[in-house]
Formats: sequence, structure tokens, C-alpha cells
Amino acid sequence: MSDQYRNFIAGRWVNTGTQGTLTNINPADTREMVGVFPAGGAEEVGEAVAAAKDEYPKWRLVPAPRRADIIKRAGELLVQHKEELARLMTREMGKIIVETRGDVQEGIDTAWYASGEGRRLFGDTVPCELPDKFGMSARMPVGVCGMITPWNFPMAIPTWKIFPALVCGNTVVFKPASDTPATAVKLVEILLEAGVPPKAINLVCGSGGKAGDAIVDHPDVAVVSFTGSSEVGRKIAARGGEHLKRVSLELGGKNAQIVMDDADLELALEGALWGAFGTTGQRCTATSRLILQDGIHDKFVNALIDRARKLRVGNGLDSGIEMGPCINKAQRETVKSYVDIGINEDRATLALGGHELTQGDYALGWFFEPTIFIDVKSGMRIAQEEIFGPVLSVIRVKDFDEAVRVMNNTMYGLSSSIYTRDVNMAFRAMRDIEAGITYINGPTIGAEVQLPFGGVKATGNGHREASHTVLDTFTEWKSIYVDFSGKLQRAQIDT
Ligand code: NAP
Ligand code: MG
Repeated sequence: MSDQYRNFIAGRWVNTGTQGTLTNINPADTREMVGVFPAGGAEEVGEAVAAAKDEYPKWRLVPAPRRADIIKRAGELLVQHKEELARLMTREMGKIIVETRGDVQEGIDTAWYASGEGRRLFGDTVPCELPDKFGMSARMPVGVCGMITPWNFPMAIPTWKIFPALVCGNTVVFKPASDTPATAVKLVEILLEAGVPPKAINLVCGSGGKAGDAIVDHPDVAVVSFTGSSEVGRKIAARGGEHLKRVSLELGGKNAQIVMDDADLELALEGALWGAFGTTGQRCTATSRLILQDGIHDKFVNALIDRARKLRVGNGLDSGIEMGPCINKAQRETVKSYVDIGINEDRATLALGGHELTQGDYALGWFFEPTIFIDVKSGMRIAQEEIFGPVLSVIRVKDFDEAVRVMNNTMYGLSSSIYTRDVNMAFRAMRDIEAGITYINGPTIGAEVQLPFGGVKATGNGHREASHTVLDTFTEWKSIYVDFSGKLQRAQIDT
């Protein structure tokens, strides 16, 4: 059964869009149209921003603990609807059901964390150099925030942005990925039911080029928070720069797991399988390179191939399935094109997979085999470019120094992992790996909301989501001086 979704603009649900309609297809069974939704563009964004701007002066004066109570209530509603939301998400983007439950859970965790901030939002109080004078700093909201999100975490990523932005006193215009509008509609319904004032949250579905660009270009959008590819992020930074806008960018990755000779190999194997093939490799933190030390290389590769071959690929709602489809036809074609590059241009050895799955029920969706390349060299395209699919490139190294050199030889710097029992090596890795996230004896995926999330180099522009660090995106610092001396006191002069 196909649903008709609506946009939510200026306090009203709207059926039609100036850019026509878009369809939401189940990537595991393309016969199923999950829904049809209106596509907005500059006109809808204009109305949404005007509404958010109008609401902002009122919302910013609601005490932060009250704003936070509403987000806590949204978290309770997510708990109540978790299973139904997870099932809808699997239908709309193909992740297996245990992972979509995890995606909703991350939204719940974010609700608890962000609502706690309503009673913190710490600033500093500091001594002043002049007598009878008081100094402090406070976080102030910024205004209208434009949120542009990808399809691979349809609940977690929007909540990472929207919950703290609202707690801080901002209002929101939200453009979800065109592949995942249904989860976005549900999230907005939940926020409204929880008590967010209607004009404080606006939903404009529509293509990146139309609705996304309109958000970035609108002069009344103070902050753009974007998660997606580095290619689009670069364009958004340039356009936002024209307006001197704050732009927070969470972009691509080419993450690697290192396994040293002394590692717990069974543990490292489980980590590699989960990191590389979880979410069909479509995580910004996915393990797409596996760096193996010489001594364990052959043994590890054999075990890895054996286990990856047995992964059960299929519809994420079916029990026992371990890997779902690619998000859409174009993404599967990209994956296939990288397999061809790996074979023909890079001349690596294809050790497992490499093909679309097209037989039987697989013909209904965008399935691809778990794929492993060996004999990969660090400079090859399959070891440099983000593929965003179930493709793992294995690189052999002789020692720790070479492992870290290979790890760092990428334009990206999001997540990283090392398996070793040597505590000295672990600490050197923590210090020398160039990445926003380093796991010791854990896979490259599995972030928790109370720690900063983001990366270095082409993975972003220095902002961090989650943790209290996200508050720096959604607030401006104000320094406040209170002089209670009753006379003119001149800093740096009258001391
Ligand atoms: P994408 O193509 O960059 O799209 C992301 C969002 O931007 C979508 O909502 C998209 O809309 C929109 N968009 C596209 N072109 C735009 C433009 N010119 N102006 C404004 N908005 C525009 O990325 P994706 O394919 O959805 O997601 C995969 C990428 O996201 C990967 O590179 C992955 O590494 C990255 N990612 C990063 C993180 C992180 O936190 N670092 C987390 C998850 C994913 P449409 O859907 O309509 O195209
Ligand atoms: Mg879909």
C-alpha cells in the first residue's frame, strides 16, 4: 500500500509541491511504492523560512528547560513507536530491521541527551580585572537553521541536528533526502505531538538541487547543517560562504581497520565483517579498507572470505537476513563501476563477489554481493574513493608504522580502528591516526551520542555533531560584562 505524504510548512500540512511529486520505492522490492510525496523548491522554502523566522522571537524566549521537556516528550513518543518506525525505515531504505531499530534508538538517545542540555547549556563566569565588575558568557540561539540530511540514517541524523537546535532556541527548516521522506514525515509528526510550536519546525521534501539549494541560498537561514557527500558539501560551503553563513558539514569517509599480528583474530574478523558489510557498506563510517599485517594476512583473508561468503543477503524485514540491498539503482551501478575499476584499472585481485544479485527474489531489488578485493595498494582508486557499498579493499603491510601511513593516506578522516593487544601500539594509534574517531579493538562503526561525531580533512569543516560539541553549531557565544561600580572604568587602562 502506498502512502501520500505531505510537507509541513508554516503550520500546515501541504499536499502539493511546485516541483511535482517524487516517489519512495522499497529498494528490496521495487514493486512496492512506499509512498508519493510532494517536491518543494524555492517557493516552499521561502514560506517555510518566513514561518520559522516569525516563530523564532517567541520560541527563543521559552525557557530552555521547557523547550527541553518537549524534546524529552518526543523521545518518549519515539520509544512508543520504535518498532513501527523501524519497519517503515527498512521498507523505505533497505537496512535490516535490527539496524533500523538501532537508528531509531539513536534518535531516542539523542532526545535524552539533548533534553538534558536544557538544564545545562553551560557558559563561563570569570573574574574581571576591574573592581565591582562581573564577567560571564552565555549561549544564545542563532535563528533559523536549515537541516539537509542523507538517506542512510533517516532518523538518527535528523535528530542529531533538530533536537539540539530546538533545545537551544532555534527554529528549523528540514529537507530530508529524497530517498527517505517517510521517516522524516513521522519525525515531524512526533515533534508536533510532543508540543513543538507548528511554525518552529518546517518540512520541505524536494530534490537537493531545488529545495536544498534554496535553503542554502536563503538570506534568512542563519545556519546550514548538512550531512552528505563531500562533493555536495563543498558546493554548500561555497554558496553559504557568499552569505557569511555558518555551515556545518559532516561528509564522506574512507575508513580503515588495522589488524596487527598480535590481535585477537576472531574478534577482529567479526569487527571487519560488521564494519564492512553492515548497512550494506552504506555508512559514512563503514570499513572500506582493511589493513592487515603480514604475519596474519593470509590466514585472516581466508577466514574473512569464508565468513563473508556466508552472509545472508535479502529483504531486511525477513528473519536471519544480515545484509540488505543498495539504496537505489544508481548507487548499485556506482558499486559495480568501482568493481570494474578495481579489476581493470587498479588491477587488484577480486577475491569474493563483484556482481549484482539478480536471480529469484533478488531480481526485485538492488542487491549486490559482499565483495572483497585483495592485493590492493594504498594509492589505488578503490582504496582512495568512497564507494558506499559492500566492497572491502584489503591492503597488506609489514609493520605498525606502515599501517598508520596507509591509514592516513586518504583525503578523508572520519573513523578508524586498530586491533592489537599491545597497549603501547594502541596509544600510538590514538595519537597518530588522522581521524575524528578511533576505535581500539572495535569496528569503525558504532558511535555513541555522548561523544563528538565528525572527522578531519575532507570529511568536514571542523564542526562536531552529538555530545555537547553540537551546541557550538546551534548557538552563538555572548560575553556579558556587568559593571556595578557606578563609574566609568576603562579596561586595560584603569587597573
Ligand atoms: P548527498 O548526495 O550529498 O545528499 C545529501 C543531502 O543533500 C540530500 O538531502 C540531498 O538531496 C541533498 N543535496 C544534494 N545536492 C544538493 C545541493 N546541490 N544543495 C543542497 N542539498 C543537496 O549524499 P547521500 O548520497 O544522501 O549520502 C551519502 C553520503 O553522505 C556519503 O558520502 C556519506 O559518507 C555521507 N554521510 C556522512 C555522514 C557524516 O556524519 N560524516 C553521515 C552519513 C552520511 P537529494 O536526496 O534530493 O539528492
Ligand atoms: Mg526509498
